[in-house]
Amino acid sequence: MAIEITCTCGRILNAPDSAIGKKGRCKGCGKVIDIVTPPEPEKQNRVPDLGIQMEDEDVPVDPRLAPPPPPSVKIPPEPFYYGFLVFYAYTCITLGIVQFVVFLGLAVVAAQYADYGQSVVLGSTVLWSLGVMLGVVLVSCPVLLAVDAARNVRAMRYGIK
Ligand SMILES: [Zn+2]
Repeated sequence: MAIEITCTCGRILNAPDSAIGKKGRCKGCGKVIDIVTPPEPEKQNRVPDLGIQMEDEDVPVDPRLAPPPPPSVKIPPEPFYYGFLVFYAYTCITLGIVQFVVFLGLAVVAAQYADYGQSVVLGSTVLWSLGVMLGVVLVSCPVLLAVDAARNVRAMRYGIK
């Protein structure tokens, strides 16, 4: 069976199958052309788009005609420091509370043996430790809120539930 080759000049040339892979010369323009298997004409058996979802499984569907799967959004991993910042903030808050409780307890015990001068020192120590605790909480809470906000923004951007 002969194959048809269309030259760039428009002339349709016939060549035997045995000539595939060889070179031929166009009788019209004299150009040397490669004799290759002509591309298969595109199949026209497309399923008409009726705008409805076909549920019948008996209808053979050419997988090449299936719609491409939706592009999967690649979700990058969460920045490593989010978890670190949360851990850091909670650690600071915990240590701040612990040190205040410890100093308060020590002051209560020591105050029983204190004269006036020592009670001033003890009171100052407790106030200082209270200040440290409040300071740590005031600094750490915005860090926690910032990480939470960043996680919410990330969830919205990538559609994470
Ligand atoms: Zn030609």
